Amino acid sequence: MKEGIHPKYEQTTIRCACGEVIETGSTKKDIRVEICSKCHPFFTGRQKLVDTGGRVDRFNKKFGLGNK
Ligand SMILES: [Zn+2]
Repeated sequence: MKEGIHPKYEQTTIRCACGEVIETGSTKKDIRVEICSKCHPFFTGRQKLVDTGGRVDRFNKKFGLGNK
């Protein structure tokens, strides 16, 4: 009932780089993470979309792949 004592705690959506969306409660809004329990190698046993921004892009440029 009292306001201003605790940070607002509400429903928040956490979006992972792999596309997984996790709903949870937090004082922060729209949290973005690069890895989650769904795509973490520890849980999946393999890497998945973890390195898309770096090595893969450079690989594509080096070999003339992609449309950049
Ligand atoms: Zn993920």
